[in-house]
Amino acid sequence: MSGGGGLVGVTVRLWYALSTVTTTWPTPAGGGEGRGEPISYKENTSVLYEFNGVCHHCAEAITVIIHNGEIMADCPACNEAPFHIRPIAGIVYVVSNPNQTGVKVGRTTKTVEDRIKRLNSTGVPGSFVPIAIFPTDKPLADEKRVHKKMEAKRIAKEHFDFEPVEAALRAYRALNRRIKPIFFDQSVEDTFRLRLEEARIQMQLRLKGKVK
Ligand SMILES: [Zn+2]
Repeated sequence: MSGGGGLVGVTVRLWYALSTVTTTWPTPAGGGEGRGEPISYKENTSVLYEFNGVCHHCAEAITVIIHNGEIMADCPACNEAPFHIRPIAGIVYVVSNPNQTGVKVGRTTKTVEDRIKRLNSTGVPGSFVPIAIFPTDKPLADEKRVHKKMEAKRIAKEHFDFEPVEAALRAYRALNRRIKPIFFDQSVEDTFRLRLEEARIQMQLRLKGKVK
C-alpha cells in the first residue's frame, strides 16, 4: 500500500500517547497479597509530554519535553527555564469504601493516595478507593464550600450519604464549576460527564418551555 509507512508512524505515535496517559487499575501496590490501594488510572511513573510553545524569556518558539511535571531542558535559545511549573497547594478529595455507605470528602496537602493509606490503616473494614480530586490553592475554604453543599446528607464528620458520581457532581457545583475534577476510574468519569450533559439538556428544555 502506498503511504503505508507514514500511516504506521502516525498509529504508533497515537498509541504511545494514549498508553502514557491512560493506564489500567487497580494494581496492587508492591504486588503483594492483592491488598494494595488502586492507583490512579492517570498515574504513571513515566508520563511524558511534549510542550510546543514560546519561551517566556526570549519569545523563541521552542519544543521541550516535560517528564512527570519537570521540564527536561532549558530553552535551547536562551538557556533559561522556558516557563514555570508550579505545584498546587492541595486537593479536595472524594473517596469511597465498598464496605461503607456513601463517600468521604475531605482535603489534604498531600496526595489522595497518601490520605487513603492513612484511612486504610484506621481499622475500618475494606479499602478506600479514590473517586475524584479537585486541585486547589485554597483546600480549607474549598472543603468548607463542598461540605456545606452536602450538609443535608452528612453521616459523620467528613462522611456523606451520596453515591460517588453524585458526590463529585455536588463538589464540582459547590466550587462554582471552576475546578475540573480529576477522576481515577474511566467509567466514573464517563458517568459524571453524561450526568452534566443530561442536566444541561434538561435546563435547555426548561428554558424552551418557558419561551413558548
Ligand atoms: Zn528562551
